[in-house]
Amino acid sequence: MLHVDQALKQYFGYDSFRPGQQEIVEAVLEQQDMLVLMPTGGGKSLTYQLPALLLPGLTIVVSPLIALMQDQVSRLQENGIEATFVNSSLPYEEAARRERAAMTGQIKLLYVAPERLLKPSFLAFLEHINNTIGLSLLAVDEAHCVSEWGHDFRPEYRQIGSVRNRFPDMPILALTATATERVREDILTQLQLRQPRVHLASFNRPNLSYEVRKKHKGSYDELVQVLRDKAGESVIIYCLSRSGVEKLSADLEEDGIVNLPYHAGLSPKIRSEHQNRFIRDDVPVLVATIAFGMGIAKPDVRAVIHYDLPKNLEGYYQESGRAGRDGQPADCILFFSYSDRVRTQYFIAQKESEQQQAIALQQLQQVLKYSESSQCRRRVLLSYFSEEFPDANCGNCDNCVQTAQVEERSEDARLFLSGVHQTRERFGLYHIVDVLRGANTQKIRDFRHNLLPIYGHGKQFSREEWVSLGQNLLQQGFLSERRDNYSTFRLNANSLKLLDGEVQFYQKVTPKAASRGAAATPV
Ligand code: ADP
Ligand code: ZN
Repeated sequence: MLHVDQALKQYFGYDSFRPGQQEIVEAVLEQQDMLVLMPTGGGKSLTYQLPALLLPGLTIVVSPLIALMQDQVSRLQENGIEATFVNSSLPYEEAARRERAAMTGQIKLLYVAPERLLKPSFLAFLEHINNTIGLSLLAVDEAHCVSEWGHDFRPEYRQIGSVRNRFPDMPILALTATATERVREDILTQLQLRQPRVHLASFNRPNLSYEVRKKHKGSYDELVQVLRDKAGESVIIYCLSRSGVEKLSADLEEDGIVNLPYHAGLSPKIRSEHQNRFIRDDVPVLVATIAFGMGIAKPDVRAVIHYDLPKNLEGYYQESGRAGRDGQPADCILFFSYSDRVRTQYFIAQKESEQQQAIALQQLQQVLKYSESSQCRRRVLLSYFSEEFPDANCGNCDNCVQTAQVEERSEDARLFLSGVHQTRERFGLYHIVDVLRGANTQKIRDFRHNLLPIYGHGKQFSREEWVSLGQNLLQQGFLSERRDNYSTFRLNANSLKLLDGEVQFYQKVTPKAASRGAAATPV
């Protein structure tokens, strides 16, 4: 057998392995079951492609997306490697022809969609291979798809484990860029890996800078500014909904920012046209839902901006990770608003199964932990992947760069807590702010809250400032929140301590608020 170094050079033209690749390749050659957790772009594909070429039989690669499959296979074929795929996009005859080619040993790597793998006819084909040239390896790409705790659960993936029972001698290599503890365990059990070796690479992307910005009325202008600063460079903006994409895309267009929309509501033809124009640098900005991106390798994206709250931190890591694949500096900016948070909570409450609700809630908590944190963002993000970032200050996220300036705002906080108390702990953030500011809303009239002692006592601060203060109280644990269909604030033990003057409340000064002066002078 060729030495792995020589094979690397001969088949792929690379001079050396990327970190981890050689160990993985060698373990796979020894028939070891393995789980490989490596961030996107780390070079996972090679870890099954190279063994596939060195082992005598056929390697089966399970991959969830037809587009990904086609892309990989054509790249292999360009390198003169005997690879092909079978999936539902092929006419029956063509699929049968490819399977026959595999039977005669003309194919080393066969890519399949998971639903195909379990079809009786395909299992019979595998049986035949197993009895003749042999099954070298089952590589399961995007293995997190087996887990409901992952960001891309696919029920068909669940059944891959049964292939293990049919062909107990075929080693399994599971690969993913998702490394949370829970997903990891799911993969090991669902795929029935045997005494697996687990390879966990670092998920840190040092060239990416992380930043969270408050989303408010002025955010659109901030966004436009960011795009103008990056004029001519590639930027992806993610929105939650199709309509959000359409609106933002049109607004930007109007403001002279050349861009294209991308979402699942557009026809496949338009979608691929927009994607290609973005990849070819025809158009610098793509406004997209998360339908865009899996398997897209554009190295020079200089910023990924989330204009809405991501659904989970996993997704955020993957989506923001599409920036700076070339290793050059790139920005990941997330716009975060309290109302996005409330909206997400509302959607979660609508979910049917309790299990789904629990998963979604936990995922939201993680996103909040990242967005509301005053700690290093990189540290929070990596801790989600059970990775401890060694330095206290990463020097490349907003929290590390702007060493936090704080001001004491205990008096204002007490006013807010009084607002919660006087409205009998039955209302949410915005209503309390309205009461404090002496607004004349229907709701205030209905509940006669204009008669409360506190009414209008907080006129000196803008609505936004109060909202931010209320959020901070909640985030720092000086308030509790009760969620039904909407959220209401409750006082807790910490609120009482603050009200009694036993503890003080400090709020981080945002650059804009800082100009107001640390003494919190009424404006
Ligand atoms: P992943 O599947 O982990 O996202 P890929 O397998 O697609 O990553 O590899 C990412 C890129 O790195 C590809 O362009 C691939 O050709 C390249 N690559 C992989 N291994 C090596 C290597 N040893 N030397 C140089 N380039 C490599
Ligand atoms: Zn940091």
